[in-house]
Amino acid sequence: MAQVETFDILVFGGGKAGKTLAIEQAKAGKRVAVVEAGLIGGSCINIACIPSKTLIRSAEVAHATRRASEFGTEVDNVRTSLDLVRNRTASVVAEMVAFNQAGFDASGFDLVIGWGKFVAPRTIAVDTGNGIRTLKADKVYINLGTTAAVPDMPGLLAANPITHVEALQLGDMPSHLLVLGGGYIGMELGQAFRRLGSEVTIIETGSRLGAREDEDVSSALLEVLQREGVNVAFNCAGATVAGRSGQSVSIKTSDGRIFEGSHLLVAAGRRPRTADIGMESAGVELDTRGFIKVDEHLRTTADGVWAMGEVAGTPMFTHASLDDYRVVASQLKGGDRSTKGRIIPYCVFIDPEFARVGLNETEAGLRKIEYRTARLPMDVVPRARTLSQRQGFMKALVAKDTDEILGFSMLGVYAGEVMSVVQMAMLGKVPFTAIRDGIFAHPTITEGLNMLFGNVK
Ligand SMILES: Cc1cc2nc3c(=O)[nH]c(=O)nc-3n(C[C@H](O)[C@H](O)[C@H](O)COP(=O)(O)OP(=O)(O)OC[C@H]3O[C@@H](n4cnc5c(N)ncnc54)[C@H](O)[C@@H]3O)c2cc1C
Repeated sequence: MAQVETFDILVFGGGKAGKTLAIEQAKAGKRVAVVEAGLIGGSCINIACIPSKTLIRSAEVAHATRRASEFGTEVDNVRTSLDLVRNRTASVVAEMVAFNQAGFDASGFDLVIGWGKFVAPRTIAVDTGNGIRTLKADKVYINLGTTAAVPDMPGLLAANPITHVEALQLGDMPSHLLVLGGGYIGMELGQAFRRLGSEVTIIETGSRLGAREDEDVSSALLEVLQREGVNVAFNCAGATVAGRSGQSVSIKTSDGRIFEGSHLLVAAGRRPRTADIGMESAGVELDTRGFIKVDEHLRTTADGVWAMGEVAGTPMFTHASLDDYRVVASQLKGGDRSTKGRIIPYCVFIDPEFARVGLNETEAGLRKIEYRTARLPMDVVPRARTLSQRQGFMKALVAKDTDEILGFSMLGVYAGEVMSVVQMAMLGKVPFTAIRDGIFAHPTITEGLNMLFGNVK
């Protein structure tokens, strides 16, 4: 083994949790190294949340411009250049990378760029492209993330499908984008490309979109996408693929339906980055799906090794990875924060947004939790009318015998922001009646919460 460099803390993968921990610990005077394959700042800012939301914003502007006459402005010859959209996305990403790099430099941790692999307990060899560096620490924090899963479908690999990584960097508009998977990435990118000018077909193996949501949400999501001309095909399990993405590609289902397109995007789930990383040399055990086994303090099966973020099976959101940082950082300060019972909200950035915090009806039913529901169509919220964004609904779950808010789902304009208001109430254990009777500014979308909670029986 080459000469071993020793540190107090080694962060393996610079995702949200890892980089935040590294900065904090380095500033506190610890000797810290971060092993990162090359994404300065992790997936979120380079290839996931930030570029996708930037592209989605460009798509919103294209869509709004085409609808301009509804608002009283005539616009002729609307044309979108995917090249310009890509440049805008790239510049937002570049700014955030530079911002992250500056934060890394200021904190003083050792950023080791290269592909890492465990070679012994708490010991990582990094291929820097300029030789191997071997690093060891008392405490190792794994934050390696996930990659797009490519399902085992005949012909799929040979078709050379794109993932979100390439989709967010395309300079030529796909004439017809086939999207494999109707989860949040498929819906977001499907709608965005439709608005930018592509034909889009989402091909889903299941029988509805957003499979973990209630059926009324799935139906409303479908309506949103179909209204804009996105084709959605369900029950497509057992399909085969022919052709090549970027040229001409087709998907044939087992019941004989054929979908043809120019590009094929796989958005069919995520795979943990744990293969060929030497986890066995480190004593880090994986579950049957390849995610790292952790307890509620994110400790792995190896002494002195923790795992954070998606690779540890944490819900796949940046803010969840950030909370994993809080869990491990708390232990370093003698605290006892854990992943137990935490509320993790999320927002799907289709337009209108879909957001949820806490339980939906399906989950409450499965857990045999008795509840009352209230529902409110967005159409009756005055601000939704002024914005001409009337689609969707809010839905709240309240405990049957107390005034506790159990959950909130919303498909509608500014859903992510409105959800956070309800989340604050849930965090503060505020009864639903306080929101029902609270004074909210008029006309905001949030004032709809008065009416929603007024509908609780
Ligand atoms: C298209 C898309 C859109 C998304 N949109 C949102 C959103 O709007 N909101 C939201 O909350 N979440 C979103 N997510 C999810 C979000 O990106 C992740 O949950 C978030 O980035 C946290 O990831 P993480 O901390 O687990 O690891 P990551 O950020 O993935 O970091 C892992 C790091 O490990 C590095 N690495 C991996 N293997 C090695 C190795 N062997 N050696 C060295 N380095 C290695 C990688 O380069 C990477 O930088 C989106 C995801 C995708 C794919």
